[in-house]
Amino acid sequence: MENSELELVVTNFHKLKKDLFLLTAKNNKTAVLYHRPSLKAYYLEQQYKQFFSCLLNNTDPSHVFSWLEKNTQMLSKIWNELEYFLRYESIGISENVERLTLLISQKCGQNCKYCYAGGGTYANPSSMNFDTVKRALEVFSKLFNYIEKIQFFGGEPLLNINCIEKIVPYVNHLYEVGSLEKRPILNIVTGLGVSKKLIEKLKMIIQQFPDFEFEIVVSFDGPEKIQNYLRPFKGRFPSYEIVKENMDYLQENGLLQLVEVTYTNYHVKNGIKPFDLRSFFYEKFKLENVIIVPVISNDPTLALTNRDFFIANEYQTVINRYQNGNKKEIDSVERLANQVLNAPPTCLYCGSGITEFVVDSEGDVFPCQLLASNKNFLVGNVYDTKEKLRQNLITSKQKYSKIFDKSEDNECQTCFLQFFCRGCPIAPYLLGNSMHIPHESCPLFKEVVKNSILIKAEKDFVESNS
Ligand code: SF4
Ligand code: SF4
Repeated sequence: MENSELELVVTNFHKLKKDLFLLTAKNNKTAVLYHRPSLKAYYLEQQYKQFFSCLLNNTDPSHVFSWLEKNTQMLSKIWNELEYFLRYESIGISENVERLTLLISQKCGQNCKYCYAGGGTYANPSSMNFDTVKRALEVFSKLFNYIEKIQFFGGEPLLNINCIEKIVPYVNHLYEVGSLEKRPILNIVTGLGVSKKLIEKLKMIIQQFPDFEFEIVVSFDGPEKIQNYLRPFKGRFPSYEIVKENMDYLQENGLLQLVEVTYTNYHVKNGIKPFDLRSFFYEKFKLENVIIVPVISNDPTLALTNRDFFIANEYQTVINRYQNGNKKEIDSVERLANQVLNAPPTCLYCGSGITEFVVDSEGDVFPCQLLASNKNFLVGNVYDTKEKLRQNLITSKQKYSKIFDKSEDNECQTCFLQFFCRGCPIAPYLLGNSMHIPHESCPLFKEVVKNSILIKAEKDFVESNS
């Protein structure tokens, strides 16, 4: 171990202390070193645990050099990792559009109880025309380095399938002429409350463009009684059977990837817990990928009493079951740990108005679909001059990063999950407060994430030594 390497550690001592966290189990047996900017975790055997515990608890950098000199042997053994930590640059705000959402259909056959978009219309029942899409793609691809994902949203986007049919080859054309650096992911968020013909057409489009990655996200709230109550067709007609048939069709054709459930008090009142929903979708459609999102509503029949605790509570239930002897829950615990360890690091709690934008059928640009139609949040219009829109996008980035960038938030700045957490800071605003990162459930959330990482690390260690 050379002196220059020791010096590198000493001069970057504060960076190490800021970036590394020692997670230890209550029984003190298991310890994990967690590198927060990369979201990587390392199982520590006893000797390494002692070393990192001393290193990170050493408060005076002037003592560190002499302490390190006494520990050079240990330092040599972990030099590769240490060098990685020292050189790792935390991620900043991306220069790309991470998601460009197009409200291509402000019409919808459904009439969901919690719809924030006035039954899908955003107070203007209309469809986006292809010229507006072209203009949106043209300006956003010029003003940003790259568009990572284009999301077709509504209303019900499949009601404007003819436009989607034109958009996909156009995006391909933009890629082929070099206006887009890569082919963006094409994401379609649908309630599937449409005729089979439209689903068949979607399948045909997907098959015609095998070079694109398509993601279909189905909004579906669970068992028949729940779906029919929460997501009926307009006129209160039940939607379950039609949506289920369309789900079956997607599944038979290998196109069913992800379901998003809006979880409400109606689920609670009917005794349906989040894990019942996971079992439901697995049994009916062999689908494991289920996102359960707590409803944003002040209506007492829908609103959850503990909305902010919803995610932390779900994880806590799984961990409790595992710790109480239900070893089958290890898969769920591991899934939670992997969600953290495999996530792309991000400095933003939410990218709305910074790296994510929504364009409505008139070409108006908003930070998020939750705010579309509220002119107080209008960023600009795709038909504005590029310079005017550029300035408005810069102002939007400045405005929203003050609230959504976790490095601006006192609690997130020092939290081991700073580069992981994502959530909705707009929900508190819609519920009557200011836009902010909600912190009520942070202590519980941190505890369950820590426990899931420790349980997974212990399991992996036991397996690799058996
Ligand atoms: S499917 Fe979506 S847009 Fe249509 S009513 Fe339901 S929540 Fe609103
Ligand atoms: S757990 Fe809370 S404090 Fe920590 S990063 Fe997430 S939101 Fe911020």
